[in-house]
Amino acid sequence: MEQIDFVKSVKDEIKDKNLKYVILTFGCQLNENDSEKISGMVEEMGYTKTETFEKADLVIFNTCCVRENAEERLFGKLGEIKKMKEERNTIIAIGGCMMQEQSMLDKIKKSYRYVDIVFGTHTIQTLPEDLYKVIVKNEKVKEVWDIDGEIIEGLPIKRNDKYRASVTIMYGCNKFCSYCIVPYVRGRERSRNPEDILNEIRELAKEGYKEITLLGQNVNSYAKDHFKYCKPEVKSEIDTFAKLLRAVCSIEGIEKVKFMSPHPRDFTDDVIEAIRDCPKVSRMIHMPLQSGNSKVLKEMNRGYTKEQFLELAEKMKSGIPNLHLSTDIIVGFPGETEEEFEDTLDVVRKVEFEQIFMFIYSMREGTRAAAREDQVSEEIKHQRFDRLKELYDGQVEKQNESYIGTIQDILIEGSSKNDETKYTGRTDSNKVVVFEPNGKEKIGDITKVKITENHKWFLSGEII
Ligand code: SF4
Repeated sequence: MEQIDFVKSVKDEIKDKNLKYVILTFGCQLNENDSEKISGMVEEMGYTKTETFEKADLVIFNTCCVRENAEERLFGKLGEIKKMKEERNTIIAIGGCMMQEQSMLDKIKKSYRYVDIVFGTHTIQTLPEDLYKVIVKNEKVKEVWDIDGEIIEGLPIKRNDKYRASVTIMYGCNKFCSYCIVPYVRGRERSRNPEDILNEIRELAKEGYKEITLLGQNVNSYAKDHFKYCKPEVKSEIDTFAKLLRAVCSIEGIEKVKFMSPHPRDFTDDVIEAIRDCPKVSRMIHMPLQSGNSKVLKEMNRGYTKEQFLELAEKMKSGIPNLHLSTDIIVGFPGETEEEFEDTLDVVRKVEFEQIFMFIYSMREGTRAAAREDQVSEEIKHQRFDRLKELYDGQVEKQNESYIGTIQDILIEGSSKNDETKYTGRTDSNKVVVFEPNGKEKIGDITKVKITENHKWFLSGEII
């Protein structure tokens, strides 16, 4: 039977029962995008969405294993819904990259036997079959496929937003940073056929989507695998990330293009030129630094030095007018000394990132960094985190002031959470802006807003 036959069988089986599902997503935008595909399939089978666990007949967890607290949250929730399972026979399914870790899979099988379905990062397309087995045959499904699965196209998708959409362009990662579990659980880099990507975006444009975020663990490694996981064979001139970016920007109706995440090591000149030449590409580029010290970067296996990162940031800023950079930084990597941490602060002072996602190093079992004996104490890690935050907060204050009086193009996302009479949206550099409606512009429009005030965590302005 094909997956479409399982969809029909489940649909027939649950017809007229008004069954509901809830999905809880942990982790990054890639996982959010997977959850949209899972929702698309489940709704095609006849389930409707609820946000309430108590009302759900099917509970799906889409997990992430990049940070430790996701495990705690998952097991906490599983404990909570055990009673629901006993009372209403709720079906429980767990997917995502945490399930690609053997130790986690073993734990679920041993201690959480009431879980019905476990699926991996690239077996989401078999969810109809898995549900069929549980509902019709009363079997549990707890097998996870090999991590280098082929690329499956054409899954239904239920998007969470009407104007902004994420499109995954590649899966997996080949970089093996020494602290990161992703290459072990998401497999090798596998690029999608550019024509499939472009067709998906053309459809989104027809549906009224205006902003597209291209997703991948390393988007600028796109096509370096020569599309060997695509079937049928790829015949396209689009064989680099820069060319894909240009092609996406040429799609009529799409007004803003973002991408997440690039790797500094692969940020080649052709990508810089494509951004410079395409005004639709956001001028806020994410460039994960992780550490500002060359020795630590080497131990992280990042493939660049402090000097090379600074040089790249400078080249990008001088090559692309109005560029803003955001970054990720890990504090307290094993063995990080005070002087090495100072180098990170030095890079932050020099580059003046618009946004910093700061993380305290946490051990991921199975990685090289976790096996090191020179772990930094929790106390020092927290002290360094606070120092970095203090430096960054001061920079944000200064940057916000520089927005006063400027005119920004803002996509109206909806009503402000704190004041429903006002609209909210974001600048190209991701600053939240709150402003009064003018009676003409509506949600989903892109409008010009003059920034008038700085409120530290958001800006306010007026439509002009
Ligand atoms: S580039 Fe490094 S941090 Fe990013 S997903 Fe790959 S291994 Fe992990």
